[in-house]
Amino acid sequence: MKFLLLIPDGMADWRIEKLGNRTPLEVAEKPNMDFIAKEGSCGSALTVPKGFEPGSDVANLTILGVDVRKHYTGRGPIEALANGIKAKLVFRCNLVKVSDVMLDYAGGRISDAEAKKVIDYLNANKKYEFVRFYSGKSYRNLLAVDRDFEPVKTYAPHDILGKKIAEFMPEGGELAKILRDLMEWSKIVLPSVSEKVNMIWPWGGGKIPEFPKFREKYGLRGAVISEVDLLKGIANGLGMDFVEVEGLTGYVDTNYKGLVRQTLKSLEKFDFVVLHTEGIDEISHEGNLEGKIEAIEIYDEKIVGKILDKADLSELKIMLLPDHPTPIALRTHVAESVPFAIYGYERDDVKTFSEFSCAKGRFGSIDGLRLMDYFLRRG
Ligand SMILES: [Zn+2]
Repeated sequence: MKFLLLIPDGMADWRIEKLGNRTPLEVAEKPNMDFIAKEGSCGSALTVPKGFEPGSDVANLTILGVDVRKHYTGRGPIEALANGIKAKLVFRCNLVKVSDVMLDYAGGRISDAEAKKVIDYLNANKKYEFVRFYSGKSYRNLLAVDRDFEPVKTYAPHDILGKKIAEFMPEGGELAKILRDLMEWSKIVLPSVSEKVNMIWPWGGGKIPEFPKFREKYGLRGAVISEVDLLKGIANGLGMDFVEVEGLTGYVDTNYKGLVRQTLKSLEKFDFVVLHTEGIDEISHEGNLEGKIEAIEIYDEKIVGKILDKADLSELKIMLLPDHPTPIALRTHVAESVPFAIYGYERDDVKTFSEFSCAKGRFGSIDGLRLMDYFLRRG
């Protein structure tokens, strides 16, 4: 038996008046996701434990059975795992566009090449020898600090869109002061390096974590396919393979064919495959309602539909769920339940895949940390 975990990042949403009080998932044409819900069993899972920020890191770790209350140290450290970076502390470092407010947490979707130019510039001209910048994908880069400091309170830039940045600068102790200094400095120098971005925004810092290994815990050889470094870091931390796919954009125009091809190939080689896609979340952050509905339909057709067509369903269990909701109305993540459907065991009465239909399924409302037990039928 093989296991496929499908995670469309940020797909869940709220009821929207403009849609006749329905959610984007309820409005979208998505026969393939509905098939999984109809032929399988459904429920509603809380993937972000109380007291945690509803980030994709926390949510995806929880889905994969990692108790973040014991193991989570921050977004930056997980992305450092993705790149084999070793340092005392690692922060995510967004390249952003600001005025006196946060204009764009995603730096105009700066290209990898231009982002690298910015990072190279920062490294060549940086003000502290124990600080080093690392390039990642587009606006998602890292800032590593190779010296011990007390914890710093930072703010995720996607949570402060349109808000005064002065109120959300790093706080607490020596390192906060250093980060603020680097940020102010970047605001002065970056306009001469790039038109798209004019500031660095470090957040989600911490020590590099030790996760329990997936294969030891579940006895399955696992692989992860994703468009973002975050999931590569999770894969590396859990000792799972990360499968590269060419031509990924992390957006709705991504290489769907390549993602499906590598997923099917990986299912031959591994027992457990995660396919995490980013586009629906990004479009939710943009507050683009029409775009979100369309992105859900494209995901249904080009990912779920193609996999259902081509995979051997008699030998496959599938679990489908967004990691967290990204309500269009808020343009950011919330720590609320997501719908899930598990295909390959028995059926319940749920006929469609949505926030409210799945909540009536046989699993009811569960703690996200139990998802793997339901999916693998253990415990
Ligand atoms: Zn997001």
